[in-house]
Amino acid sequence: MKQHNFSAGPAILPASVLKEAAKAVTNYNGIGLSLLELSHRGPEFTAIIEEANALMREILELPDGYQVLWLTGGASTQFCMAPMNLLNEGETAAYIDSGVWANKAIKEAKLFGNIDVIASSKEQNYTFIPKNGKVPKDAKYLHITSNNTIYGTQWAKFPKSSAPLVCDMSSDFLSRPFDVKPFGLIYAGAQKNLGPAGTTVVIVREDLLGTVERKLPSMLDYRTFIKENSLYNTPPVYPIYVSMLTLRWIKKNGGLKGIQRKNKTKAAILYNEIDQNPLFQGTVTDKADRSLMNVCFVMTEKYAALEKEFMHECKANGMSGLAGHRSVGGFRASIYNAMPKSSVQALVDLMSDFAKRKG
Ligand SMILES: *Cc1c(COP(=O)(O)O)cnc(C)c1O
Repeated sequence: MKQHNFSAGPAILPASVLKEAAKAVTNYNGIGLSLLELSHRGPEFTAIIEEANALMREILELPDGYQVLWLTGGASTQFCMAPMNLLNEGETAAYIDSGVWANKAIKEAKLFGNIDVIASSKEQNYTFIPKNGKVPKDAKYLHITSNNTIYGTQWAKFPKSSAPLVCDMSSDFLSRPFDVKPFGLIYAGAQKNLGPAGTTVVIVREDLLGTVERKLPSMLDYRTFIKENSLYNTPPVYPIYVSMLTLRWIKKNGGLKGIQRKNKTKAAILYNEIDQNPLFQGTVTDKADRSLMNVCFVMTEKYAALEKEFMHECKANGMSGLAGHRSVGGFRASIYNAMPKSSVQALVDLMSDFAKRKG
């Protein structure tokens, strides 16, 4: 049966990328060796990481002064690494608390400086993006989470800030075009929208580095990886390779503009069904904050008893990964870049059919 993977992460990758990635495991590029057993300093991997960097620069239209890094430790390591590298003790950074991941970033940042949480939607269980914060004049940066994977909220337009933005883009990285210039640092775990788990992309404005007084361990200092072109130690070669294949796929699909067009269409199909189907309702209170990546919904009160039954039918129809995060419940359809429109349509058809039978 055709499978529809709505998992929040690790998440769906383009079928063509998986096919090529599978070949590389046994016979990379016809050389008779697996990519998994080749030196990270050999000509094959050198070509891969150079192409990955060039494609990333091209797709994001990165201005000079920004560096692309391929790190390990997940987005979660960036929660501490960013403030460690950017914020002196005694200095202030502003944070917006839009969900569990933002909260974890705040917790780690407090180890390194004064953290001013300028807005939060915690009291309302993060059902909207809190936009009322004022960035203090002396803030070194403003940290935001561009897409809140668990709650299905997304900054449609990034906030204006006098301080550079530091952004956790893990779950909507490369899903839409945006101007990089207001950003001092962007980080994203690959496993949501780019590649397999194991590498984290960091885009950093180089002139912001080297301004903190504390001593930094080499592995936690961005400058180490800038200097060594992400090859200070053995990098996660395979996740970087698969990410490179996805970057090629993005370019072939019209770059970020083309990808965004498809993402908007897919999300509109699903939200439209949620809004007009009497059995379902969205959980995000401000429609302008609805994520194009993670679509969260529940069953309306009258039909709440049918949740299990609907989930069962989803599974029976090859649709997996639809359970909402344990802190939210209900359903979450993650419809990242690689999710085909046909899979979104299959879910919508099932919702509509279910309503006809049970409504
Ligand atoms: C998944 C996720 C993380 C955590 O990523 P790890 O790579 O597992 O550390 C952080 N932030 C956001 C927005 C996420 O979606």
